Amino acid sequence: MRRWYWPNRLVNHILALFFFPAAMSVALPSLRNAIDLFYPPLCLGCGEELVGNERLCPACWVNVRFVGQSSCFLCGDVLPGDVEEDFACDSCLRTPRIWDRGTAAMLYRRTGRDLVLRLKHQDRLDLVPPAAGWMLSAMARLNVENPVLIPVPLHKSRLWKRRYNQSAALAKHMARQGGLDWDGQFLQRQSATPSLGHRTAEERAVALAGTMALHGPNDRYAGRDLVVVDDVMASGATFTESTRVLRAAKPKSISVLSLARVSYKD
Ligand SMILES: [Zn+2]
Ligand SMILES: [Zn+2]
Repeated sequence: MRRWYWPNRLVNHILALFFFPAAMSVALPSLRNAIDLFYPPLCLGCGEELVGNERLCPACWVNVRFVGQSSCFLCGDVLPGDVEEDFACDSCLRTPRIWDRGTAAMLYRRTGRDLVLRLKHQDRLDLVPPAAGWMLSAMARLNVENPVLIPVPLHKSRLWKRRYNQSAALAKHMARQGGLDWDGQFLQRQSATPSLGHRTAEERAVALAGTMALHGPNDRYAGRDLVVVDDVMASGATFTESTRVLRAAKPKSISVLSLARVSYKD
């Protein structure tokens, strides 16, 4: 009898391996519905209970200014009127950009700013999947083909304090949702920079110069469209330094994409 024990157990394991994914595909949606029944999804903006599949309640939804077609083709700041061609905003005309195209999912104001601050400082990683979805939609304006997503790197000391790099989390989820490539190691921060919060654009550029480097074979993404991913674009100094370093990889193009763009009209 003992002779049959192992083969039977093996058959059970094979059957389990075969049926487990099928069983889970049936069970998980029901489990999710049950969880939603007892723990209804909450609005990402105000925490109110939600009905349906939206991630924001109607009140918060109107407080998010999503970026659309009428926006600067280099940074995503909204432009007045209907814009059908590539127009740059005043900020991008004053500060020439070295990347090819750029946009953002939303403006950094009201609920948009609250979402970014929670993601950055309050460990709200539950915001990452919906934010990544909004960024994927925004990426359509970048005209890229099978791009590689490159998150803006965080220095190890900052990563140690904050425990996660929110830009890498966004890039990873965008890649997962969109079936894209991403690389969180290619562009690395060599030295820590002090907080750039209250500096002018020129001071930020000086503070960031020489802080990043490529890791691994430089030609790994030669000829590819690269999209640099960050949570916020303010002066653009971080994107400028990232782009300057990534040019050595000889990509086809470099675009920048932020979750939220600080609008200088505010
Ligand atoms: Zn709300
Ligand atoms: Zn602009």
